[in-house]
Amino acid sequence: MGINGPIFYYFLPLFLAMIGLELWVGKRRGLTIYTKAQTMASIWIGVVQRLIGLVKLSLTGLLAVYFYEHRIYTIPLDDWRVWALLFVGVEFTYYWYHRLSHEVRWFWATHAVHHSIEEMNVLGAYRLGWTSKLSMAYLVNMPLMWIGFTPESVATMLALNLFYQSWLHTDLIGRLGPLEGVLNTPSAHRVHHAKNADYLDRNHGGVTLIFDRLFGTYVEERDDEPVEYGLVKPVGSAHPVKIAFHEWGRMFADLRARHLKDWPATLFGPPGWAPDGKGMTSAVLRAQYRARQAESAGAVGVPAE
Ligand SMILES: [Zn+2]
Ligand SMILES: [Zn+2]
Repeated sequence: MGINGPIFYYFLPLFLAMIGLELWVGKRRGLTIYTKAQTMASIWIGVVQRLIGLVKLSLTGLLAVYFYEHRIYTIPLDDWRVWALLFVGVEFTYYWYHRLSHEVRWFWATHAVHHSIEEMNVLGAYRLGWTSKLSMAYLVNMPLMWIGFTPESVATMLALNLFYQSWLHTDLIGRLGPLEGVLNTPSAHRVHHAKNADYLDRNHGGVTLIFDRLFGTYVEERDDEPVEYGLVKPVGSAHPVKIAFHEWGRMFADLRARHLKDWPATLFGPPGWAPDGKGMTSAVLRAQYRARQAESAGAVGVPAE
């Protein structure tokens, strides 16, 4: 089970057309949307990720079958209302898959690859980690199989959800008025890809932002806080293999340097966690940013001496 279903290949022409349109509009506006090294990295990472997806064997896949065999209901798939329900179900599990991929370092090691993009473009949507079968964040989907959705229907809905997200990775579309905060939009996803402290780990939704609204992770793009793309600690290389494994490398280096008692938090705590309590986690970075904001707001109110 996963996001590598044949659906992607049906949509491939549409995906390539989107890239073509992006290049055309970019050229007309005199913008450079694709630079060579980053584009080559995205292509290599995307192609290898697809090839790994062709290998059907994964523990998550086996568990999906296991949960479906032990399902509590048998859900008829010939009713459109069932698909509407599955859409909401996948939105919910996708939200948690994505949020945990940001908040648990073990999952982040795979997801950080997607966040290594420093220029926003449609191609970047498929710069996805190679190690999802190892990190297994897709375990959050198991309740859907247990309820009685077939593994294939869940995989199809997930692939559609992911394909929707392609167009979110463009810099060419501004804010979309009343859609903002309801549907996932390029503006909301710019925020998601930003390393600005105030934007970190926000807007995790797939097609909609309903669960971000519900669980308090929605943030709007603001003019006074222009997005800066990429990782808080950049990879510093456009080599696909380095990008694919950089966070695993850093995590294992941390394990080697740390006491055994700190291993669980190093692996399953938030990215940036450190045993001395001085780790630069998103929460710490955000608190520092807020403190700086409050300080400068206070400084404005106090007359200079
Ligand atoms: Zn993300
Ligand atoms: Zn993205």
